[in-house]
Amino acid sequence: MINLEGLTISKVKKAFDSKEYTPSDLVAAYLAVIESTDTDVQAFREVFSDEIVSEAKKADLAYAQGTAKVLTGIPIAVKDNILLSGHIAGASSKMLEHFVAPYDATAITKLKEEGALFIGRTNMDEFAMGSSTENSAYGPTKNPIDRSRVPGGSSGGSAAAVAMNAALVSLGTDTGGSVRQPAAFCGIVGLKPTYGAISRNGLIAMGSSLDQLGTLSRSVSDAEILFNIVKGTDGMDSTSSYPTEKPETKKNLTIGVPRNLFEGLTADVLENLEKSITKFKELGYEVQDIELPNLKYALATYYVIMPAEVSSNLARFDGVKYGFHHEGKDLLEDYLKTRREGFGKEVRRRIMLGTYVLSAGYYDAFYGKAQAARDLIRTDYQRAFELVDIVLTPTTPTPAFKLGEKTNDPLTMYLEDVFTVPANIAGNPAISIPSGFIEKEGTKLPLGIQLVSQNYREDILFRAGKSFLNE
Ligand code: GLN
Repeated sequence: MINLEGLTISKVKKAFDSKEYTPSDLVAAYLAVIESTDTDVQAFREVFSDEIVSEAKKADLAYAQGTAKVLTGIPIAVKDNILLSGHIAGASSKMLEHFVAPYDATAITKLKEEGALFIGRTNMDEFAMGSSTENSAYGPTKNPIDRSRVPGGSSGGSAAAVAMNAALVSLGTDTGGSVRQPAAFCGIVGLKPTYGAISRNGLIAMGSSLDQLGTLSRSVSDAEILFNIVKGTDGMDSTSSYPTEKPETKKNLTIGVPRNLFEGLTADVLENLEKSITKFKELGYEVQDIELPNLKYALATYYVIMPAEVSSNLARFDGVKYGFHHEGKDLLEDYLKTRREGFGKEVRRRIMLGTYVLSAGYYDAFYGKAQAARDLIRTDYQRAFELVDIVLTPTTPTPAFKLGEKTNDPLTMYLEDVFTVPANIAGNPAISIPSGFIEKEGTKLPLGIQLVSQNYREDILFRAGKSFLNE
């Protein structure tokens, strides 16, 4: 039996190289976990069992012949809103229940070129809207650490898959925290790169100026390996770009802590953050207080800009072009019935909100204002990065909450995103790394800290993250 606990890409490659086990053995071990655990956890919408078993055999051969590449034989789970040619990409919505991806997302193409195997598609909040995976049209995913709790969202299935050892690493998308927050809730690493660092070609859009593909993994090193493969300018996404020259590396890094944002945090979350700060100091980092005065507007800004973009992006799902269709007596009734039944409650709520903030007479008061606030938030970060290399906060204000605890109160659900949305609004890269546990009702629940750096300085996040986790 392979011990799946604590595996990383480099450990697995060593085991493949030394013939301790083969890619087929590893895949069989992950499939066995899914078989025994996923009927309850529900991390996956679909498991590609037959396909991955036959692909793993090719990986066995590549190792035997010495032609293995960086990800040969590495099983990856993929969020249900990332296009994998020939498979359903459903965004966990009734609207796209039968939608088969006609091509691969650019990131998937790059991973395939390095030999990656795909184990299945993971459950998510419908169209990536949510913080708990409870907005999936197919029911929630449970947190593998405490199954009475949520795994976070919207990439909850991808986080649970890694946390329960059903895949080595997984892909998610992050529009306002959807990779970092579930990573924190499940005790793993979640990376949201700089806006545009990875092509969005082949991702089902939520908020196009905020969306970014991200990775979930046990280690920072794995996030780094995946990121270096998928990053880069892509002709299929005009917003994608990544500088080719290497940035200069400083000897010592400085961390800024924006304490003005921590009002209202519970003592245990604050204590965990203080411990993390102490650890960084012991590792030789200089830590100082900084001010990010406009970040207090980030959540309000996000919940105007994001729904505006959602309302526009989701206009294409009209029952005519593709996806779910409900026949009405005329074209208008087709639209109304299709969209009423194809979309869940939260998606409809955001479409309505977005349509409202963009409508004549309200545009200036809401959308225009939010864009102005967005500039201020960007400037706050720019100023901060003149003083420090990293901005440190908790990833989330709380550990994983109970299933059903916030479903009837969207506003408290939105508060979950308070620390994660600023990096999407400004575009900066951010990573969540596990920072220990707090005990609730006899269970140790993981917490995460978030590091944010200057654009295209993922290298700083990797360096600090690896030193913090002693990798
Ligand atoms: N929880 C946030 C929201 O509901 C973030 C979603 C995301 O990043 N996709 O909008």
